[in-house]
Amino acid sequence: MSFADLGLSPKLLEAIAAAGYENPTPIQKEAIPPAIQGHDVLGIAQTGTGKTASFTLPMIERLSKGRAKARMPRSLVLAPTRELAAQVAENFEKYGVNHKLSMALLIGGVSFGDQDAKLMRGVDVLIATPGRFIDQFERGKLLLSGIEVMVVDEADRMLDMGFIPDIEKIFKMTPMTRQTLFFSATMPPEIQRITDQFLHNPVRVEVSRPASTAETITQRIVRVPTKDDKTKRNALRELLRQEGVKNGIIFCNRKSTVDIVAKSLQKHGFNARPIHGDLAQAFRMETLNKFRNDEVQFLVASDVAARGLDIPAVSHVFNYDVPIHSDDYVHRIGRTGRAGLKGAALMLVSPADGKHYDAILKTIGAEEIEVLDFSKFFEENPGQESRSRGGKDAKESRGRRSSSRRGNRKSESSQPDNEPAATAEKPAEKAAATTVEDDNAAPQKKPQRSESRAPARRRNGEARAPSSRRRDEAVVGLGDHVPAFLMREVAR
Ligand code: AMP
Repeated sequence: MSFADLGLSPKLLEAIAAAGYENPTPIQKEAIPPAIQGHDVLGIAQTGTGKTASFTLPMIERLSKGRAKARMPRSLVLAPTRELAAQVAENFEKYGVNHKLSMALLIGGVSFGDQDAKLMRGVDVLIATPGRFIDQFERGKLLLSGIEVMVVDEADRMLDMGFIPDIEKIFKMTPMTRQTLFFSATMPPEIQRITDQFLHNPVRVEVSRPASTAETITQRIVRVPTKDDKTKRNALRELLRQEGVKNGIIFCNRKSTVDIVAKSLQKHGFNARPIHGDLAQAFRMETLNKFRNDEVQFLVASDVAARGLDIPAVSHVFNYDVPIHSDDYVHRIGRTGRAGLKGAALMLVSPADGKHYDAILKTIGAEEIEVLDFSKFFEENPGQESRSRGGKDAKESRGRRSSSRRGNRKSESSQPDNEPAATAEKPAEKAAATTVEDDNAAPQKKPQRSESRAPARRRNGEARAPSSRRRDEAVVGLGDHVPAFLMREVAR
């Protein structure tokens, strides 16, 4: 089946050919025809499957007829992070090159000014992160009665980030007559509930089992005798030196670990850079660009880097830490083996990781992941964990030491990097309109929104959940858009 068989117009076919794509991917084959016919689509697909084009192409087709009116966007794409939103915008630019569609991108970074001007004139496509969109709506800048198509991309990511109440709210604000194209890599019950409620007889398109891992990825684990970090870093270096490792992303659960591992690799002569939500936006963008251009070989990353970033041709993914949420394993290793290329995923598993490792096996529907035998290596390089460093106290003192060694680093960096942080300011500018401060953003020197607007109420009108944080404590990296799970009391 070719793109011409999908019912796309000659102008779009030209743009697709210019982008260098010859054949539609499975999700495109299945989702584009019903989407063009105006049906709702529920797409269950991971990033890397070509899902972005499976909604941008039919949207362009539909929006090519008709014109935008002032303050009334004709379509809305909601994405969980800046980067993903910017990538969607780039897709619209690429495939819409022969159409005159106007587009705005409502994500973090700059001021509201340019955005307002664009929206005032009217846009065919509005791409936004959920919090930013609601902000703009609440400022009275948007009329939603003209929304013909609404897309929710990476819904399961939105769930992880606590955006689902916002998504529900937005669904309720848009006309019932809209067409909805809804994408998620997995279908947890909460997502199922939303789709049952807001999609009308959707055509369900599933290109791989929920939470399944791409078949092009060879998965292996290394059993590490201890969770001691030095032992793990030794093992990691050995893995990086293996044959065939062209480049890779090394995932850690905590921002502090990302920093330590990146520094350690650099010290040992590896071309590695860290990326996580506490690092300056400019540094993150530079790092990503260098990685894309092969100037950096290894990206040491927290989970934010896994969210929807399109980094082609990563040969390896390394899980330095076993992810705490099993779905993150699927997202992490999905950074390799993309678009039919072969990829390898390796994970260090210590005896302390048993529970999380079991959860991963359950999620991917496997009994065991192949073990790469490192026993000889560990015999020759015995663990560094001395009696005095074992146990909880030692772990805490290690944490303290590492943060004092880092000097001015923020204490939050030892928290799991769950904030929807990574940003893409420049692509945003390039892609379309300019942007506003980020609801999903990394720490910025800006007043929290709650300072300038009615405080102490959530967007959905509920009082904030009881929190173990002090109320006046700034939440670095989250704006006031704190995922609900971070506000829960921590069980001790
Ligand atoms: P996505 O899943 O939308 O993030 O797309 C993953 C990658 O596949 C992106 O780099 C796209 O540019 C690329 N891609 C999308 N559609 C096709 C296609 N039909 N043929 C080849 N590559 C594609």
